[in-house]
Order: sequence, then C-alpha cells, then structure tokens
Amino acid sequence: MDKDLQVKRPKLRDYEPIIGKSSLEELKILADKLSGKSILNINSTYIGGGVAEILARMVPFLNELGVDAKWSVIKGDNEFFNITKKFHNALHGKKEEFKDSDFEYFLEVNRKNSEELDFSGDIIFVHDPQPVALIKKREQVGEKWLWRCHIDVSKPDERVWNFIKDYVEQYDASVFSAPNFAKMLKIRMFLIYPSIDPLSNKNKELSDEQINAVLDKYGIDRKKPIILQVSRFDYLKDPVGVIKAFEMVRKTIPCQLILAGGTATDDPESDKVLSEVREVAGKNPDIHILLLPPDSDIEINALQRAATVIVQKSIKEGFGLTVTEALWKGKPIVASAVGGIMLQVKHKITGMLCHSIEGAAYSIRTLLTNPEFARWLGKNGHAHVKQNFLITRHLKDYLLLFLSQYY
Ligand code: UDP
Repeated sequence: MDKDLQVKRPKLRDYEPIIGKSSLEELKILADKLSGKSILNINSTYIGGGVAEILARMVPFLNELGVDAKWSVIKGDNEFFNITKKFHNALHGKKEEFKDSDFEYFLEVNRKNSEELDFSGDIIFVHDPQPVALIKKREQVGEKWLWRCHIDVSKPDERVWNFIKDYVEQYDASVFSAPNFAKMLKIRMFLIYPSIDPLSNKNKELSDEQINAVLDKYGIDRKKPIILQVSRFDYLKDPVGVIKAFEMVRKTIPCQLILAGGTATDDPESDKVLSEVREVAGKNPDIHILLLPPDSDIEINALQRAATVIVQKSIKEGFGLTVTEALWKGKPIVASAVGGIMLQVKHKITGMLCHSIEGAAYSIRTLLTNPEFARWLGKNGHAHVKQNFLITRHLKDYLLLFLSQYY
C-alpha cells in the first residue's frame, strides 16, 4: 500500500466541529448496514490527480467505520499510459489518432492485470477508463461491479466512447460526478459529487510562519499580489492561457503569477506542456513556474492561502478539485465555465466564471481592485463547499451507493 495511506490521519471524530455530531452518527449507522461486505477500489495511479487524492482519504475512513476497504492499482508501461492518455483526451472530445493496435494493447494490459491483481472483495469499484476492461473477470470474482467515471464524457470521440461503453455496460452500475458529464447507459447510473478533506495537509489551517516558510523556499515576495493556478502541466488546464491573461493584467496592476504543478505517473504528455509553458513565460521575473514533487500538499496549501486571486482556466475539467480547495480557503476565484467548475462557482456569488483569456484578465483585474467584493465571494465560496463538497458528505454517498446494490 502506498505510503500516503500509512501516515497519521485525522479520525472521523475530528470532523465533528465542522459537520456536527449527528452527521457522524449517520455515517456509522450506514456503515453498520454494510457489515460483512468488502470493497476493492481499482484505479491506475497512487499519486497525482484528483482520483488518487480522493481514494487516499476515502479508503482509510471506510476502514475506520468498520467497512473492509482496499485500494489496488493496475500496472502499465509507457505505451499503455500513452494510449490511455489519448483515450482521456478523446473522451474529453479532443481529436486523437488511433491505430487498431492501440485498442488491442489496451485490452492486453487489462487482461494481464486481471491475472495478476488480487480481486478479493465483494464490491469491485473500478475508477475511470484505464482499468475498465477488468470487468471481463466478473464471472470469476466479486459480487457487484461498479464503474466510477471521474471525467466529463458528455461529448466524446465516438469511437473511443463506444469501445469503453461496451465494457461499462457489463457493470452493475455507473457513477458520474455531475449530470452533464454523463452519457445515457443501459445500466443504473448514480450521481456523486467529489469532495475535499478539510483536515488534510492540503486543506488544514496553516500559520503565517508556515505559509511564509513556503514562500521563502520558492523566493516569492508576499507583498506583491499573487495570482495562482495549481494544476498538472496539461493542455486541458491551459497554463499558457493563464500566462497570457496575467500579462494583460500586469500592464496596469503590479502582480506576480505562480503556476504550480507536478506531473502524474499516468500522464506522459506533461513534460512537453511544461517546456512550452517555460518558453512562453520567457525570463519574466514575475512568473514563477514551480514544479512540485507529488508530496507537496503543505506547499500547495500555503500557496493557495498566500494567493490574492486563484485561477483555474481549464479548457475541459472533470470536477476541478483545485477550485474546491481554493473556495474552502475563502479565496476569490476566476475559473472557466466548464465541467464541474460550474457546480462550484456561481458567477459573481462564489467566484467569477470566464470564457476567454480576455475574460479571465478582466475578472482578475476586478478582484484585485475590489478587495471587499473579493472577500465576499471568498466567504460565500467557503460556505458553499462546507455545505456540499466535504469528504464526509462524499463518504455518505459512497455508503449509500454500496448499500443500494443489496437493498
Ligand atoms: N495537485 C497536486 N499536485 C500538483 C497538481 C495538482 O497535488 O502538482 C492536486 C490538486 O491540489 C488537486 C488535485 O491534485 O487536489 C487535482 O485535481 P483536479 O480535479 O483539480 O484535476 P485533475 O488533476 O484530476 O485533472
């Protein structure tokens, strides 16, 4: 099991001051009803990206509630992850070229994993397309098979979607993160919003000293307003668009930009994106490109807390956990009107939505010049996340999903 799961984590009772006692009791009652059933989660990476982030929290909590939950990761080589990255892009609607052998190799790696993985579990909970074809194993293992889709497949490349769908429809049920991400399927469909953990290193309160230590480490001057985007270096996060918007703002308001992000083990494209970003940024001393190692939760937390405005200028987005994290910290946000961002950012109420580079620049300028409005948005954003997007609500939804397979 990955080391992240072994570090000391908050216990569920630690959430009582945030969510209240009765919500915690409710979780225990639901978990007790699952007694005797075990859950096996399967995805394609322990580190990097939102899915790993959520599983690293969810699995220990389920265990704490007395539910036997495990997490396994499929193995693949570069060729496999290149193909699944293309699948990912194509499912988001990007044009990609495929050879028949790509589909064959995808199935071959899934087949190999289905021989090597330990499938002990009553409910096999498979996340995203990479391991989707493990379902071929259902005659031999597991009682119930669930497929969790964390991405927006509403306007996919039809060839890839039809290929994936043939496997998805062999599951007992599917789960999507938002109604507008889904495609109609013949199997049962559930809607479960993702969440963040308010007590994780990524989101817990930090002292000013802790925040300053991180800024000092990266040589960032806290006196100048900070515009921040935290994201993997991926075209779909549009880091180049963020630089362009920042350059427009900087013409009239002194400020600095931080683009902070790492690379996920299942994303071979990120090095290319990073070098493009570095080229566009040139030698501008007000642009800080921070390549973060995977275990940078405190650093990300500190950067988000130090930021004046947080940007998420994605071209496509699943849910957008970075937006949730920013709102939880009471930050004013400028984010693209795409995917799950729209569930989180209500325009001019919990943040600003944008549709272009110019629009992003305009909203950043508005927030920098109207600090009181910016604070009001941040306060509303925090309340919105507390109500809808914390891990305890997510845990409850998962327990209900598992129970729904038996009742
Ligand atoms: N993240 C991180 N390191 C990075 C970039 C992102 O830990 O270098 C985290 C980020 O804080 C968030 C998650 O990874 O918790 C990204 O989730 P999101 O839904 O925003 O995007 P995804 O990467 O899944 O497309």
